[in-house]
Amino acid sequence: MKYWHTLLFKRKGKIRVSKEIKEAWEKAEHCHCGDSTCSPETHRLCPECKKIMIFNSYFMSPEPTYNEFRWKVELINPREFGGKDISENRQAIHLKCSNEKGRHFIRRVR
Ligand SMILES: [Zn+2]
Ligand SMILES: [Zn+2]
Repeated sequence: MKYWHTLLFKRKGKIRVSKEIKEAWEKAEHCHCGDSTCSPETHRLCPECKKIMIFNSYFMSPEPTYNEFRWKVELINPREFGGKDISENRQAIHLKCSNEKGRHFIRRVR
């Protein structure tokens, strides 16, 4: 099992995430909220509620901000239903929305 959730790190004040997480983020819908900070790098829309997810609020971020914008990567088709941990089966989603769906893919490490 590959713990891709844990590959987050921070460099020069900028959140970096693993390729897997970035791929899932880049598949999410673009946001057009009109905010001056809004860009495909900073804002995407949650597939569940269609509201904003903020890139720097990734759920394992060392400095999480704005809880309602926190997001994670989950498997669209859950593992218990045979879902594979592959790019096509991952999506970026609010932590809250993912939890509400009753899917628990947060992997505990160590
Ligand atoms: Zn936006
Ligand atoms: Zn949501």
